[in-house]
This record gives sequence, C-alpha cells and structure tokens, in this order.
Amino acid sequence: MLSLTCPCCGITAEETEFAPGGEAHLKRFGPGSSDEAFEGYLFARKNPKGVHFERWRHAYGCGKWFLAARCTATLEVFGTYPAQTTQPPAELIAKIKAKRPEWEGWA
Ligand SMILES: [Zn+2]
Repeated sequence: MLSLTCPCCGITAEETEFAPGGEAHLKRFGPGSSDEAFEGYLFARKNPKGVHFERWRHAYGCGKWFLAARCTATLEVFGTYPAQTTQPPAELIAKIKAKRPEWEGWA
C-alpha cells in the first residue's frame, strides 16, 4: 500500500485519497520550440524501476498539488514537497542517496 503525506495540510493517507499527476519537473516547451522539443515534452516520460519524482494532488483532502519522491519497485516514499519547486530539495536528494547509493540522480 502506498501511503503519502501531503506537505500542504500535513495529512498522511493511503493512495486512494490522492490523484496521480504524472512525472514531476518536466520542462515545458510551447510555441516557438522545435518539433523535437515539443514532441519530447508531450510524449517522452521516464519509466524507471526505482527512484521516481511524481506529481500528486490531494484530491479528497485540501485539493492542492504536491510532488513526491518514491521508489516504483518497493513503493517506499522518500519524501514529499510543495509543487512550487523547480527541483527536489537538497536534503531529499541526500536522503535518497544515503538509502540508494547506486542511484544516479534525478536529472
Ligand atoms: Zn493536503
């Protein structure tokens, strides 16, 4: 069972209280970008077995979006943080690297 803590209201709940929003930290490309960049923005997604950064919404709670770092294989959640960040917090990266020394990073 996947259990997440909403960083906006502090409630920890099971996955069914949240709505997934796909991969986090996507770089958006719009009008004026190359076709390859726009295609990559629309369709190219990471699908790792291991550490993944995702968008979630507290659909049956405060309704706000947030980001989470978790392992797709074990469902271990390393942490959640506000959606208004452009990259994962440094302390979260350090926590993941401490637990998963083989992990190559988020970028
Ligand atoms: Zn919430």
